[in-house]
Amino acid sequence: MEPLVAAIDQGTSSTRFLVFNARTAELISHHQVEINQSFPKEGWVEEDPKEIMWSVYECMERTCEKLRQLNVDVSNIKAVGVTNQRETTLVWDKETGEPLYNAIVWLDLRTQSTVEELINKNPGRSKNHLRQKTGLPISTYFSAVKLRWLLDNVDEVHEAVLSKRALFGTVDSWIIWCLTGGRSGGVHITDVSNASRTMLFNIHSLDWDPELCRYFDIPMEILPNVRSSSEIYGWMNSGSLSGVPISGCLGDQSAALVGQMCFDEGQAKNTYGTGCFLLRNTGTKPLMSHHGLLTTVAYKLGKDGPACYALEGSVAIAGAVIRWLKDNMGIVQSSSEIETLAAAAGTSYGCYFVPAFSGLYAPYWEPSARGIICGLTQFTNRSHLAFAALEAVCFQTREILDAMNQDSGVPLTQLRVDGGMTGNRLLMQLQADILCIPVVRPTMSETTALGAAMAAGAAEEVGVWDLGPGQLPHLTSEKYEPQINPEESEFRFARWKKAVQKAMNWET
Ligand code: ADP
Repeated sequence: MEPLVAAIDQGTSSTRFLVFNARTAELISHHQVEINQSFPKEGWVEEDPKEIMWSVYECMERTCEKLRQLNVDVSNIKAVGVTNQRETTLVWDKETGEPLYNAIVWLDLRTQSTVEELINKNPGRSKNHLRQKTGLPISTYFSAVKLRWLLDNVDEVHEAVLSKRALFGTVDSWIIWCLTGGRSGGVHITDVSNASRTMLFNIHSLDWDPELCRYFDIPMEILPNVRSSSEIYGWMNSGSLSGVPISGCLGDQSAALVGQMCFDEGQAKNTYGTGCFLLRNTGTKPLMSHHGLLTTVAYKLGKDGPACYALEGSVAIAGAVIRWLKDNMGIVQSSSEIETLAAAAGTSYGCYFVPAFSGLYAPYWEPSARGIICGLTQFTNRSHLAFAALEAVCFQTREILDAMNQDSGVPLTQLRVDGGMTGNRLLMQLQADILCIPVVRPTMSETTALGAAMAAGAAEEVGVWDLGPGQLPHLTSEKYEPQINPEESEFRFARWKKAVQKAMNWET
């Protein structure tokens, strides 16, 4: 039997466990569990760290059961990789193993006033004050401000820090600590890609930065050890996979870049999940954006491997707008129904929907923006609204693609895509129409998990997945060509931009 490698993919909407053949990248079996999100106050988004772990254990055990039913020996799984929603912030007690508060999800806006204070305290009052070191603007999005809020507002966190019991981590650190034994010996680590989203990490020296920690007043002893994205961190401590090494760790967008085989400078992918994230590999040099994009560490494959960087355009709300139409508005029963509903109209009939529920991320970075639907008439119905929601995802991608083309000076000629929303063929066609370039979607859409599995299998001490030249697996794909004329596309995009201006200035 050929070696297998597994990946835990802990996303904002769901957790998955997937098992791949390490020679062919074929997906052998998987299991998925949806994750509850709570919205305790307007703008707040939380998840339960224990529910996250239960979902991980359930997905692993159910997948192992499915493998046994397929007569596949679970002992063929040689390594496990972890990929995760990035920036989401947790603090737990290392002695009891208990989380000290819910996980504050990346989309959460509670730190808006903290962000304003932090911006006002720097001499130029610039949100870009820390950009040279971190590649990021000061924003509610990144972990440092969420951690600051926890230290200031949750007594249990404050006390645990004083008594040296507190550990901070993003979701990768929490999962790996729990799986390697938790309070009885769990390893407290993160990888460079996840660390680069905290705002406490120097993306040039690849280490926690004392000056940044002072800026946010974060005690450095609660931070995890930073490791490469591909090496053995520890071993599974219980369950069907007890003893298997955990040897890959990548933030979800980095994992998708790896899983889409974007190893060469200039290659890019866009992932459509809860949010939408376009990353372009810029090689071993961090490139600073002049158009509102982020500079981030993409991956570092192996202790001695070079760090590779990416330019990133992040959109906060993509699939989340579909979930909102389902959960809050009740206009569909399931996310996949949106395609039939939107296709029934085949147009938004002049309706534009800017889902700025969490402000606007790239390229605007405007936390006070709010959602807006405009261009309504007596004729507008829920099909038009569904269509406008899908178009919104495509227009937001167009904005970041334009920014990226300007920053890098070399326009992309096609876009590789993946993520939960890409099963929606209407969305894929609309995206090709609005970008005026082909959109290419791998038939196996779980490229995020594949990237984490590849990193785990390629770890030096594991050595079952060869990522050397000419060794990368070939992914079959389908291609969507633009079908409308570019003038029509430009007209709609210009209208969208007007709607965005209204979303940014809706109060004035
Ligand atoms: P994440 O990795 O952020 O958890 P996923 O990649 O699992 O997200 O994608 C889930 C998101 O995609 C949800 O927000 C859901 O509403 C949306 N989604 C799933 N299927 C479809 C579909 N067929 N059409 C449009 N949106 C979809």
